[in-house]
Amino acid sequence: MKDRYSRQVLFRSIGEEGQKKIRKKHVMVIGSGALGTANAESLVRAGVGKLTIIDRDYVEFSNLQRQQLFAEQDVVDQIPKAVAAKRRLSDINSDVEIDAHVMDATGESLLPLLHEIDLVIDATDNFDIRFIMNDLLQKNEIPWIFGSCVSSTGMSYTVIPGHTPCINCLLHAAPLSGATCDSVGIISPAVQMVAAHQTTEALKLLVEDYEALRSRLVTFDLWNNRYQTIKVDRAKKENCPTCGIEPTFPHLQYESQTKTEVLCGRETVQIRAGREFNLDQLAERLKHLGQTKHNSFLVSLEYQSYRLVFFRDGRTLVHGTNSIEKAKSVYYKLIG
Ligand SMILES: [Zn+2]
Repeated sequence: MKDRYSRQVLFRSIGEEGQKKIRKKHVMVIGSGALGTANAESLVRAGVGKLTIIDRDYVEFSNLQRQQLFAEQDVVDQIPKAVAAKRRLSDINSDVEIDAHVMDATGESLLPLLHEIDLVIDATDNFDIRFIMNDLLQKNEIPWIFGSCVSSTGMSYTVIPGHTPCINCLLHAAPLSGATCDSVGIISPAVQMVAAHQTTEALKLLVEDYEALRSRLVTFDLWNNRYQTIKVDRAKKENCPTCGIEPTFPHLQYESQTKTEVLCGRETVQIRAGREFNLDQLAERLKHLGQTKHNSFLVSLEYQSYRLVFFRDGRTLVHGTNSIEKAKSVYYKLIG
């Protein structure tokens, strides 16, 4: 085990001192899909002290093409992504403390976990949560690394509260929209490229080599051979509601009201109840309605043309519709 980090220590910008710093740091990765598993694996192999992983979903066959910590058995057993990731990461490096949370990332749910977090990696798949993160992490003065990818394209940007413009400031300066939906597909090298940028910036922050940080937004299209960095340091706005002189953090104010949402590009609606499910009782009650599967994290039910997946934290995914109305009607019929 003594040799474990030897090649990284030989790298001059890290060295023995840098390695000690990495071992003392706590990173949160929000999302355990493609970007989340790639970032988490690199950071765990690099020997970060503690990693907190958050994800609301479970492993499906369509994930295996690019979500590198998962295997077929995880799909068969319907294991939540955060749990499957933790198992694999613990096999890779048992020295790293790993905290896995099967939950929806919201302003409310993230806040109590931010204690002692040095850095957050954005591995989410939509801008709703990124704007919540932008407010929450600005308010709590925690640096974070934005990343997104779709088809063969991707982008990344490092946000340092008090120093760089925030994501909100960048909205008009950079092509941030358009990378919000997975309906056009994705190739795994696009994931690896964004994750490479994110993990590298993370290592710089962990060893406190602030001079080396990339101040520009990076964007690329691997298939069409385009690579670009955009200078954004003048984009910072004094009247920005997130990082300006009088911040109001608008995205922390409404988000608790969102109880139902359509998951982009997936024909899935998520419904959040304000209470936990008793999964044993639920499985017992639903089993005569259709084929059910039950493990300690969730219960799934095939019902008419839908698949409903109930998580212990009170969330339900209704697969097979983009209509909130339809999803709610099926849900209330079953749950009451
Ligand atoms: Zn701003």
